[in-house]
Amino acid sequence: MDNQRTKCNRNLRFIVDRMHGDLARWLRILGYDTYYSPSLTDYRIIQIASRTGRIIVSRDRGLVAWARRKGLKAFLITGVEPEEKLAELARHTRMCLDFDPGLSRCPICNNKLVKVDKDKVAGKVPPRVLEEHSEFWYCTKCGKVYWMGSHWRDILDRLEKAKKMISNY
Ligand SMILES: [Zn+2]
Repeated sequence: MDNQRTKCNRNLRFIVDRMHGDLARWLRILGYDTYYSPSLTDYRIIQIASRTGRIIVSRDRGLVAWARRKGLKAFLITGVEPEEKLAELARHTRMCLDFDPGLSRCPICNNKLVKVDKDKVAGKVPPRVLEEHSEFWYCTKCGKVYWMGSHWRDILDRLEKAKKMISNY
């Protein structure tokens, strides 16, 4: 696991097929610049990957084969649960599975999140959340505010599972 932490790669950029909206959100939470749109066609994915060097992530064997023939980096994902998909991808790319909110992107729009003071989010989050939490992150694009609520613990649990899958491989 220390190996994963010290040698993992923080500078990967992805493009994810339209079947993997959940994986796109996970990659963004982990801080990876991830292009995703539910209306992306295979042709458009190839086009964007050729132009930007983004790594293609897909469940479609045909698309992955097509991309590789064109000399593009493409990975076939077979897992079902997010932790399985992340483990598969991390095995291939040395992607980091450590969660650092300071690096996170907005799961909805891929924009880098900025840390904001508690008083800045008053009125934007439920009063109880404001009372119980001291750290908040904000997306300047969609305006959504994030904090380490119960689903963040779920994120950490799933990342631990993904790391275990890699070390057991
Ligand atoms: Zn956003």
